[in-house]
Amino acid sequence: MTPSTSFRKPIYLDYAATTPVAPEVAAKMAECLTLEGNFANPASRSHLFGWQAEEVVESARAQVANLIGADTREIVWTSGATEANNLALKGAAEIYRTQHKTGGHIITSAIEHKAVLDPVVWLEEQGFAVTRLPPNPQGIIEVDVLAGALREDTFLVSLMQVNNELGCINDIKTFAALCKSRGILIHCDAAQSAGKIAVNVKELGVDLLSLSAHKFYGPKGVGALYVRRAGDVKIAAQIHGGGHERNMRSGTLATHQCVGMGEAAELAQRSLITDGERIAGLRDLLWEGIADLPDIKRNGSSTNAVSGILNVAFAADASHGCDGEALLLSLRDLAVSSGSACNSASMSPSYVLKAIGLSDAQAQASLRFSVGRYTTCEEIEFAIEHIRSVVAKLKKA
Ligand SMILES: *Cc1c(COP(=O)(O)O)cnc(C)c1O
Repeated sequence: MTPSTSFRKPIYLDYAATTPVAPEVAAKMAECLTLEGNFANPASRSHLFGWQAEEVVESARAQVANLIGADTREIVWTSGATEANNLALKGAAEIYRTQHKTGGHIITSAIEHKAVLDPVVWLEEQGFAVTRLPPNPQGIIEVDVLAGALREDTFLVSLMQVNNELGCINDIKTFAALCKSRGILIHCDAAQSAGKIAVNVKELGVDLLSLSAHKFYGPKGVGALYVRRAGDVKIAAQIHGGGHERNMRSGTLATHQCVGMGEAAELAQRSLITDGERIAGLRDLLWEGIADLPDIKRNGSSTNAVSGILNVAFAADASHGCDGEALLLSLRDLAVSSGSACNSASMSPSYVLKAIGLSDAQAQASLRFSVGRYTTCEEIEFAIEHIRSVVAKLKKA
């Protein structure tokens, strides 16, 4: 084997885990770092440097607000969707507890990202009651299931718009209407939907919505929480120290990060339709290229889903078909995610796949392929060849 082939980088098909920063975005960010650039503290009120930094942070805020149909005053910068989710959930719970002197009831789903599930566990330990809704076999939360779980003391519902493992889309608008009729706050984790499908907070009717820049070709380490102004939506700050972001989130704003997220939001908005159609075409090409493999099955809804995610089970059960760990290890030329989370040494099957009814063996033999803006047709054709040859080899063994 020649060095050039043995050192070839795998093909990146893990855009749902993170995306590379768009070159246009990186260029804008680089202008906000050095002495010649826009490096100052955006909260410095006494000199031109500070004013200029504040100006670019505020125009970035407008770009982010625009992506989701919000007002600029409704955007709170955070370090990512994890922090935005924590702020929304703990912030709303704290206000409720202060007003009612007791913990109320929170509804979420069993297949949320850990950045929702873990803060909810923490709140449960603090005395709040929690219901985790089961998804249907397609990975979608049905509105009747939500309606059936509402209680007299339910004050907060947190449901994701697009599931990060399956790509399926929830009907947030209907959930929000139901919550509104009962005076319940609704939070939505939109980390996988914003920049991929049209997201408009006014049309959806949500109170709180979380964003992450690195899921739409912005930098890691920055995100935002939308906090609706109308209707008196209040959340308590979880990070104190100076009262930035209208007292909801203190800390010096990272000018380059905000600018990067803003630019990425504008780019994503501009290319929403064309990117979406092209990426859906590539995803379909990939599926058509492997759909005839024995015992193969697509996980989650194939109709009500974002364009970039394809989750596939490669085995009907443990007795025949292939072992997921072996499959992942053999697909060395592709960078994908397994249906298992690697917890230290042991591979535990994905809780999302288990919740939609897959067995441990099926979940362990599942892979998530996620396609993005820079994926090419040649890469997909190569991936199909590679998957087919690896599966053939494993089934023989
Ligand atoms: C990536 C992701 C998060 C976490 O976002 P960070 O910005 O990495 O903290 C939360 N929820 C969903 C659905 C995600 O895909």
